[in-house]
Amino acid sequence: MQTAKSHQNGLFPKITTIFVAFLVIGVVSYAGYLYISDQDSNYNDQIATISRQIAVKSAESAREAKRKEPVYITLPGAKTIRAIVEDYSTDNSTWALVSKTHAISVDYAPSDLKIPDVATRTDKSDAERSVRSIIEKPLINLFSAASNAGYQLMIGSGYRSAVLQKVYFDSLAASVGDPAANQAIARPGQSEHQTGLAVDLSTIARNCYLDNCFAQTGDGMWLVNNAYKYGFTLRYPSGKELITGYQYESWHFRYVGVDLATALHDSGLTLDDAWTYLVKADATLRQNGAI
Ligand SMILES: [Zn+2]
Repeated sequence: MQTAKSHQNGLFPKITTIFVAFLVIGVVSYAGYLYISDQDSNYNDQIATISRQIAVKSAESAREAKRKEPVYITLPGAKTIRAIVEDYSTDNSTWALVSKTHAISVDYAPSDLKIPDVATRTDKSDAERSVRSIIEKPLINLFSAASNAGYQLMIGSGYRSAVLQKVYFDSLAASVGDPAANQAIARPGQSEHQTGLAVDLSTIARNCYLDNCFAQTGDGMWLVNNAYKYGFTLRYPSGKELITGYQYESWHFRYVGVDLATALHDSGLTLDDAWTYLVKADATLRQNGAI
């Protein structure tokens, strides 16, 4: 009995030990499984997060690349130029079209007006001797090149507020009547002078001042052939009266930058003619998120 009991007592702990051992192995294995599963799940979460971040980043870079994508304009007969990144429909755009059909706000005034460091009519107001500061350097370059060619230019009129434009228009209309005045001078809001990007140029002696005999002067001829190289376009050429809405003005130049001024010169188009090309480029810039 003693032996059997001892045997029984000896066997029971072994079974218990084996059971406990299996239990421990089971628990450890399950814990291990849970741990690994948890690790797997964390790993999968991390992969998913990284994938999402990569997707967001690549979408951002695609948008950025689209924003920076160059937009080109080819006017007939001219070299392809790169569109400037501006909304041309805003009053302060370098390429804004201001005409009888494209008025700007009468309240608009450029924020960067200054009297440029070139000859201006000192008997005019400081405001009318001013232009936008962005065209000072191009004007200096233009005047300096003209001077090297033997011509001394002067700005007769630069910026004009809508209020001053009204004074000029009303004064002319009083003497020649409204329809005739409308051919010669812009109504308020329809003058390029309000942009601060247009200048009436003259010889320093003011011979043929605001008169088309200016085109026959050396200064006038030099300007017609060279102004575009410095970013200025002859805005109201002869033969384009029906398109521009204004009579020929051999003295009125508008800054649009060298690329566009050159393309206008080479194509023989006015800014009015080129406007549909510009509008298309503007739409593409908008579509690309660039403006
Ligand atoms: Zn003018």
